[in-house]
Amino acid sequence: MHRVVLVGAGFGGLYAARALRRAPIDLTVIDRRNFHLFQPLLYQVATGGLSPGEIASPVRHVLSRQRNARVWMAEVRDVDVDRRRVCLDGAEAPYDTLILAAGAHHHYFGHDEWEPLAPGLKTVEDATEIRRRILLAFERAEREPDAAERHAWLTFAIVGAGPTGVELAGALGEIANDTLRHDFRSINPAEAAILLVEGTDRVLPSFPPDLSAKAERALTELGVRTRVLTTVTDLDSAGVTVRTGDAVERIPTKTVLWAAGVQASELGKIVAERTGAPLDRAGRMLVEPDLTVPGHPEIFVIGDLACFSHQTGQPLPGVAPVAMAQGRYVARAIRARLRGQTPPPFHYFDKGTLATIGRNQAVAAFGRLHISGPLAWFVWLFVHLMYLVEFDNRLLVLIEWIYDYITRNRGARLITGGR
Ligand SMILES: Cc1cc2nc3c(=O)[nH]c(=O)nc-3n(C[C@H](O)[C@H](O)[C@H](O)COP(=O)(O)OP(=O)(O)OC[C@H]3O[C@@H](n4cnc5c(N)ncnc54)[C@H](O)[C@@H]3O)c2cc1C
Repeated sequence: MHRVVLVGAGFGGLYAARALRRAPIDLTVIDRRNFHLFQPLLYQVATGGLSPGEIASPVRHVLSRQRNARVWMAEVRDVDVDRRRVCLDGAEAPYDTLILAAGAHHHYFGHDEWEPLAPGLKTVEDATEIRRRILLAFERAEREPDAAERHAWLTFAIVGAGPTGVELAGALGEIANDTLRHDFRSINPAEAAILLVEGTDRVLPSFPPDLSAKAERALTELGVRTRVLTTVTDLDSAGVTVRTGDAVERIPTKTVLWAAGVQASELGKIVAERTGAPLDRAGRMLVEPDLTVPGHPEIFVIGDLACFSHQTGQPLPGVAPVAMAQGRYVARAIRARLRGQTPPPFHYFDKGTLATIGRNQAVAAFGRLHISGPLAWFVWLFVHLMYLVEFDNRLLVLIEWIYDYITRNRGARLITGGR
C-alpha cells in the first residue's frame, strides 16, 4: 500500500485527508494537537462570544469513519528526506508521499521579547489569554483609585489592522459599549480607549480601498480610533511607543494585542535545509506549480507553509480557502499519480474575501462586487457557519449567535489561567 504521511490537521491537512478517503493508500495524519481549530472564529473566543470547544473538533473523531486513515498526536521534529521518514519524539513514520501542512504562527519582526507583553492570536491558549487580559483590565480599572492608572487599564492597543486586528477592535468596541454597560459601578466601560495601529495607509490593506474606508467608519462608530502609517517602536508592561512619520508618542496601556505579522512554521525551515528548497521572507517554502518541493516530487507543501506564485506572479494569500483548495488538489494529484497520470498544475479560483467589524457590520469583495453593512454581515455569518467542520459545532455556534444577538450578551466571559 502507498504510504502517505500528512503533517498538520488544519484547513489544508484536514481537507486533503478527507479528499483522500477513497484512495487506495495508507494515510497517517500527524498533528501536535488532538483537534482541528477553526481559526477565523478565534477572535470570538478571545472576546468572550464563543467557548473554545465550539470552534474546535477532535481530529480523531472527524476521521473516525475513514478506514484508510490513522491519526497520531505528535510533534514532528524533522524529516529524513533520504530515508523518507518523518521524525517524531522517539518514533518515525515512513512515507512514500509526504504532505506538509504545518501552517504559520505570529511574528514580532525581530522583537520576540514583545510576545509575552502583546499576545498574538493563533491558538486556543492565545485566545483565552487575550480574553483574560481584556476582562481583567476592566476588573482592575473598577478598583483603581488613581485616574491615570485607571485610564491605562481602560486603554487597549491592537497592533495590525488586517482582518484579525479589525475583528478584535470591533468586538472590543462592542464589549465596552454594549456587553459590559450595566456591569460596573466605579467605571463606565464605554470610556475605554481602543486604539488600532496599522503600518500601511489604511485598515484592511488587502481589501479594496472603498471597503477599507467603510470598515474604518464602522470602527469609528464603535469608538475605535485608528492610527494608520504608524509603527510600534517600543513596548513594555506600562505602555506602547508608536511612531507616525517623525512624531513619536507614548501611550500608557496595560493591554496590547498583536495582530501584525505571520511567519511560516519552523518545520518549513527544517525541510528547506534538508532539501535545499528556497524560502521566502515569511519563511514559506517556494513550491512548484504542482505544490511539490523543487527536486522532491514526493513532498507536497500546502496552506500557510507554502508560497505559490505561479498563477499571478504574487504569492497566494495565507487564508483558509487557499489551504482548503490546495488540500483538495493534493488529494487529486496523489490519486492521479497512483493511476499513472501526471496531475495538471494547481490553479486557485478566488471566490472572494470577507471581514467582520461587529454587529450588522462587515465588508466583502467578490471580484468587482463590493458589499458592506448588514448584507455583508449575513454573508460572513453564513460562510463561517458553513465552513465549521462539524455539524454539532455549526448548531451550537448558530444558537449562541442568535442568543447573543438578541440579548447583546457574551456568555463566555471567563477569566481563567494566567501566564
Ligand atoms: C486569528 C486568525 C483569524 C483568521 N481569520 C481568517 C478568516 O477570517 N478567513 C480566512 O480565510 N482565513 C483566516 N485565517 C487564516 C487561516 O486560518 C489560515 O490561512 C489557515 O488556517 C491555514 O491553514 P493551514 O492548514 O496551512 O494551517 P493551520 O490551519 O494553521 O494548521 C496547521 C496545523 O499543523 C499543526 N502543526 C504545526 N506544526 C506541527 C508540527 N511540527 N508537528 C505536528 N503538527 C504541527 C498545527 O497544530 C495545526 O493543526 C485566520 C488566521 C488566524 C490565526
